[in-house]
Amino acid sequence: MQADHALVIADYERICNCGFRCMIITSMTAKNPIRRYARCKRFDKPRGCNFFEWVDDSLYNRVRSSVVGLMLKNETLLAKNEERMKQLKEWEIAEENLSRIKQKNLSLKMKVKACHNRERPVIWTMLTFVVNVAAGYVLNSVTRM
Ligand SMILES: [Zn+2]
Repeated sequence: MQADHALVIADYERICNCGFRCMIITSMTAKNPIRRYARCKRFDKPRGCNFFEWVDDSLYNRVRSSVVGLMLKNETLLAKNEERMKQLKEWEIAEENLSRIKQKNLSLKMKVKACHNRERPVIWTMLTFVVNVAAGYVLNSVTRM
C-alpha cells in the first residue's frame, strides 16, 4: 500500500503517482472476498505506477462482513449438501443391492420349492414301498401263527 502518495478527491477516488484517477476494483479472491481497492489504471503496464490501496469504509465493511458470513455459511451448506448427496448415493446403491438379494432369495425359494415338488413323488413311492413291505411282513407273520 502506498497511501502516502494518495490524494483524496472524494470518498473513493484516489490519484495515483502518474496523476490518473484510480480504478476501483472489487477483489473476489478467497483471502479478500468482495473487498474494494484503488489501483493505477496502468498498474501492470510499462509506464504505470504500482499504486495500490484498499478502499474501506465502515458501512461497506459491515455489508461485506455479512456477505462474507453468508458466503461461508453457503460454503458450509454446500459441503453438507455434497456429503448428504454422497450418503444418498450410498443408500441408493445399498437399496439396489438389497433389492437384488431379495430377488435372488425369491428365486432360490422357488428353486427349493420346485426341488421339494420333484422329490415328493420319489419319497412317496419309497414310503409306499416300505409300508407295503412292512405290511407283507406283518401279514406273513400273522398267517404263520
Ligand atoms: Zn499510476
